[in-house]
Amino acid sequence: MGSIIDGKSFAAGLRARVADHVAALKAEHGIVPGLAVVLVGEDPASEVYVRNKGIQTRAAGMESFEHKLPAGISQDELMAVVARLNADPAVHGILVQLPLPGHLDSDAVINAIDPAKDVDGFHVLSVGLLGSGQKAMVPCTPLGCLMMLKDRLGDLSGLHAVVVGRSNIVGKPMAQLLLRENCTVTIAHSRTRNLAELCRGADIVVAAVGRPNMIPGDWIRPGATVIDVGINRIEEDGATRLVGDVDHASAAQVAGAITPVPGGVGPMTIACLLANTITACCRANNLPEPEGMGS
Ligand code: NDP
Repeated sequence: MGSIIDGKSFAAGLRARVADHVAALKAEHGIVPGLAVVLVGEDPASEVYVRNKGIQTRAAGMESFEHKLPAGISQDELMAVVARLNADPAVHGILVQLPLPGHLDSDAVINAIDPAKDVDGFHVLSVGLLGSGQKAMVPCTPLGCLMMLKDRLGDLSGLHAVVVGRSNIVGKPMAQLLLRENCTVTIAHSRTRNLAELCRGADIVVAAVGRPNMIPGDWIRPGATVIDVGINRIEEDGATRLVGDVDHASAAQVAGAITPVPGGVGPMTIACLLANTITACCRANNLPEPEGMGS
């Protein structure tokens, strides 16, 4: 039976380090890092995420600016909000909660964010910097996955990693990060053939698909490290529960270490957002960046 990677306590540790750093920035430089979150419309899941982000931002001692905008806002009006946040010196990080309503051009909105404040790492410049191996603002979910992998395995050099999923927010940046750590990386997706065989050859499997329990234990090489990014709601015995993309019960029997769902990758994502905000704040003020916060 493999060990469980406790993302909840890992994230608590990271948030505590962020809070210490915020306190030091205040005490030594009089600077309060600020994170602005823009929510358009009333999607219930997005509202929960935004509320949690606000709570955790304030708990870390940072300033939280929440902008709730009507679903019918025009592209120009939304771009004007982003422009105001870009110009606001109290705002060090800007996050536009996705998905946006269909009439809005998400790419244009994300690319209008000042790259120095792009704490989600989705701006095309951040993507290009990461892809070309330069210092970049790294998307929060893959950053959290990498932190847990390095904590567990130390040097990742030469390990074979299979990333299942090629989205811009998880799969692709995850693969780039693993490549940067000198892994041999395979990116799998819905057209991949022999996925089971590919996974069986992997030292590291990162699953970011969005299909409940898709990866069974017999796809996992004994001793491999498994990071389950998936968050899927399933109905069971009349109740709703969350499961990952990996069949946890069978995979935990063979994996060397595995993240649970919930309590694995999920809690790390907001903690990494706070870490990215500190990094952006330090860069904006020409101060040394905090150690061990990833970007
Ligand atoms: P997307 O839907 O954007 O991407 C899913 C990827 O999975 C696509 O690349 C798709 O391939 C691939 N895929 C679909 N079916 C298969 C299959 N049968 N075999 C192999 N690959 C397949 O999802 P996201 O990347 O946004 O999210 C993935 C999961 O991670 C979701 O469950 C989401 O809820 C969760 N998530 C969790 C976060 C957290 O904080 N823990 C944050 C973000 C996401 P193709 O490109 O060919 O269509």
